[in-house]
Amino acid sequence: MEKREKLYEGKAKVLYATDDKDLLIQYFKDEATAFDGKKKGVIEEKGVLNNKISSAIFKMLESNGVKTHFVEQLNDREMLVKRLRIIPVEVVVRNLIAGSLSKRLGIEEGTALSEPIVEFFYKSDPLGDPMINEYHARAFGWATDAELKEMSATALKVNEILSRFFDERGIILVDFKLEFGEHKGKVLLGDEITPDGCRLWDKTTREKLDKDRFRRDLSRSEPTGGLGR
Ligand code: UDP
Repeated sequence: MEKREKLYEGKAKVLYATDDKDLLIQYFKDEATAFDGKKKGVIEEKGVLNNKISSAIFKMLESNGVKTHFVEQLNDREMLVKRLRIIPVEVVVRNLIAGSLSKRLGIEEGTALSEPIVEFFYKSDPLGDPMINEYHARAFGWATDAELKEMSATALKVNEILSRFFDERGIILVDFKLEFGEHKGKVLLGDEITPDGCRLWDKTTREKLDKDRFRRDLSRSEPTGGLGR
């Protein structure tokens, strides 16, 4: 496998071409950003950890029948992935109320939901990823009806697998964001699954174990009680 030119540099990752037109190398950086890039920082070795975490999660999901872009972890910071045509619709699944949903509806963070909620957001940095629904996605041609149905079903299946996985380790999966893309006519789960795109709380103390520590400037040892803003 030969690494070729840089194709795209995002906030947390870089994509490189390879000598195989169907495969790309996804490189994980240490840069952390929040609030659509308005807050910036560097967390040493975050890229190494996120590559490891995401590789492990993609492997687990594949072994449970979820189709992902993951091929193999190449080294500390690089993962070999299938080339995707990214579908510009981010899918968020929520088990407890937190973040933007808490703000939008004025309901306290940590409130339980009677069933998981699936939300769609249009992937656009300049617009700050506005919330959309299936009608917008179809009417603007961002995703077909079949793709939306498959993305929702996969997102709920991922939620079941990951919620159980984290629960067994004393962690609540509060919410998370997924991205999908099309590869040779199939919809595959893409991007990464890491604490940068998930909310994870300690089941006993409700301490935040995810990117909210960076977003909200929480110190390393401070217990948050789960309701801190
Ligand atoms: N999320 C993400 N990227 C985004 C927006 C959200 O990874 O651009 C994740 C976020 O980490 C959380 C979930 O999606 O786990 C729901 O985020 P929310 O809509 O509450 O927005 P936020 O509070 O992060 O602005």
